[in-house]
Amino acid sequence: MQIVRRAVVGVYGVLAFVLGGMVSWIGVRMGIGMWVGALIAFGVFAWGMWPSWRRWRVARQPFPAAWRLWLEAHVPFYRGLDAVGRRRFERDVQFFLDEQRFEGVGVEVTETLRLAVAAGAALLLHGRPNWELPARRTFLFYAGRFNEDYDEDALGDYEGMAHAQGPVILSAKAVEMGWAVPHDGDNVVLHELAHLFDFENLDADGIPTLLNPASAEAWRRLMRAEMVKVRQGRSVLRRYAATSAAEFFAVAVENFFERPELLAHRHPELFEALCAFFNLDPRSSGQTQG
Ligand SMILES: [Zn+2]
Repeated sequence: MQIVRRAVVGVYGVLAFVLGGMVSWIGVRMGIGMWVGALIAFGVFAWGMWPSWRRWRVARQPFPAAWRLWLEAHVPFYRGLDAVGRRRFERDVQFFLDEQRFEGVGVEVTETLRLAVAAGAALLLHGRPNWELPARRTFLFYAGRFNEDYDEDALGDYEGMAHAQGPVILSAKAVEMGWAVPHDGDNVVLHELAHLFDFENLDADGIPTLLNPASAEAWRRLMRAEMVKVRQGRSVLRRYAATSAAEFFAVAVENFFERPELLAHRHPELFEALCAFFNLDPRSSGQTQG
């Protein structure tokens, strides 16, 4: 995540130039000069730069020591980063917390819960500093599991659910467990955030939109072959990964970040594909590729 995105500067720069220029031209012809146009150009550009200014301010805030301790204790990847990588990770956490909404349904939204989700986002985006989370979201916490009617239900099928448009629902208990046991390939935060990357084209097909289109067909083939292994019990991915291509991608992401050595050993092709996609090797924190 970047403070100033070049594309945004470009778009708003052009917009300010065109709108301001048009109004200035009209102003000159009406005999009131260019000042209204200049004001409009400034306003449009300032409007576009507002989120960058906000990030700049957020980045200047100190990172709480308690958050740092939590990250060290629960996110092995963060632990392995050097000082520069850690600072960038922390900054991404701060941006995420500032920009996303968090609500609880019968459960208190603690700082730890919010941090636990932000850590997942920072992890997924670390190798790609120019990427953003696909959209601003509300993260809605339930205390425990829930069913398809969104009722809390200890026997419900769901610990998390991401919608193409709408909130991401997470069981607070599952969020805590996901980070408390960091090497079991089961992390509801990483799972649901992975779905967001997949939803970007409004069609969860296991092909994340940010994937280079040239790689899509190879990725599809690889996914099909790996899903067969899941069905045959020859995969380190849990059986849920065979439910659909979208679930395969989400479960693969969980395993990629939580037990990269095992995934690299048992499924080298899948591991390499995910290294290329996220532009990092989670076995050696911060070693981004190419
Ligand atoms: Zn899922």
